[in-house]
Amino acid sequence: MQRPGEFEIIRRFFSGQRVADVNTEIGIGDDCAVLNFTAAARLALTTDTLVAGIHFFSDTDPTRLGHKALAVNLSDLAAMGARPRWALLALTLPENDPEWIAAFAQGFFRLAERHRVQLIGGDTTRGPLAITVHALGTVDGGPGVKRAGAKPGDAIYLTGSIGLAGLGLRIRQGAYLVPDEEALDRLEAPQPRTDFGIRLGEFASAGIDVSDGLAADLGHILEQSSVGAEVDWESLPLSAGVGRYVADSGDWQMPLVAGDDYELCFTASPAYAQAIASAADATATPVRRIGTIRTGSGLIIRRRGRPVELSRSGYLHFVSGEARR
Ligand code: ADP
Ligand code: MG
Repeated sequence: MQRPGEFEIIRRFFSGQRVADVNTEIGIGDDCAVLNFTAAARLALTTDTLVAGIHFFSDTDPTRLGHKALAVNLSDLAAMGARPRWALLALTLPENDPEWIAAFAQGFFRLAERHRVQLIGGDTTRGPLAITVHALGTVDGGPGVKRAGAKPGDAIYLTGSIGLAGLGLRIRQGAYLVPDEEALDRLEAPQPRTDFGIRLGEFASAGIDVSDGLAADLGHILEQSSVGAEVDWESLPLSAGVGRYVADSGDWQMPLVAGDDYELCFTASPAYAQAIASAADATATPVRRIGTIRTGSGLIIRRRGRPVELSRSGYLHFVSGEARR
C-alpha cells in the first residue's frame, strides 16, 4: 500500500467517523473545532504538537520553547476569531532538569498571562522531548471564521510580514550568514495575532493562520471555499531583512513557502476596508491587502507583472523528505 502523507492520513483514517454529536458545529478540517452549546457562545478547540528535531532544534532556549508551544495554538484560535481562555499541557521530557522546566514554564506562563489564558490540566511523561498543547477559546455571536467562505471579489489580507521564520531557520542552519535578531525571534518566539483575531468575526469571510507557508495555507482557503485567487508578489509584506535575503539569494519563493510565521491570512468583502483598518489600528496590528479572490481554482502569483510558478510548497509531515531541523 502506498504510504500516506499528513493530510491523507487525517482524511483516510480519522475523518469518516460515524458519531456526529449534536453540539459539534465544526469538526475536523479547520484551524479549530467549534462546539456550540448555546446560541450566544461557542467553544473553539485546537491542539498542536512540537517535536524536538522536527519542529525545533533540541538545544532551543526552553523559555522560548514554552512560549512557542502555547503561541502556535493561540494562533489557531486567532484564525478562528476566538478569544483564548484555557490550555492543557502534555509534556514528554527526556530528563527532569528543574532549571530547564522552570524556564519552559516561565515562557509558557508569560504568554498565557498576556492573553488571560488559564492552564487547567495536562500530562507529564518521560520520553523523547515533545510538547503538546490543547487550547480552548470562545467565539461570541457567530460560528467563528472558517477556511470556507471566501467569495469572488473579496480582498485577501495578511497581518504582519512573512518569510521571517524562514529566514531565521536559514540563519540557524548556517545557510545564510547575515545576522537578523527579528528573524530568530520570529522562528523561536512567534507572537500570535490574538488581539486582532478576536476582531476577525466582524469582517472576515474566511481565515487561516500561516503555519505551513502562505501558498499552502491560502490554498486551504481556496480549496475549502471553491474559489481561486490572484496575489502580487510585490504586495507581500516583507521585513527589510527578508527583502535583503531575497535580493542576495534570488530565492523569491521563500516568503511564500516557508512556514512558522503565525500571521493571519483572511478574506473580506471590499466593503469592510474601513472596519479592517479600524481593527488594525485599535490592536496595533499591521494589515496589508495582498490580492483578490477570483472564480475558478488555484493561486495565481504575479511577479513583475507576470504569472510565476512555485517549484516547491509548504512543509508536509510524511511527504517533505527530511525533518526541518
Ligand atoms: P493546523 O495547521 O491549523 O494546526 P492541521 O493541518 O494540523 O491544522 O490539521 C487539519 C485538520 O485536521 C484540523 O481540523 C485538525 O484538527 C485535524 N486533524 C489533524 N490530525 C488529526 C487526527 N489524528 N485525528 C483527527 N483530526 C485530526
Ligand atoms: Mg492553523
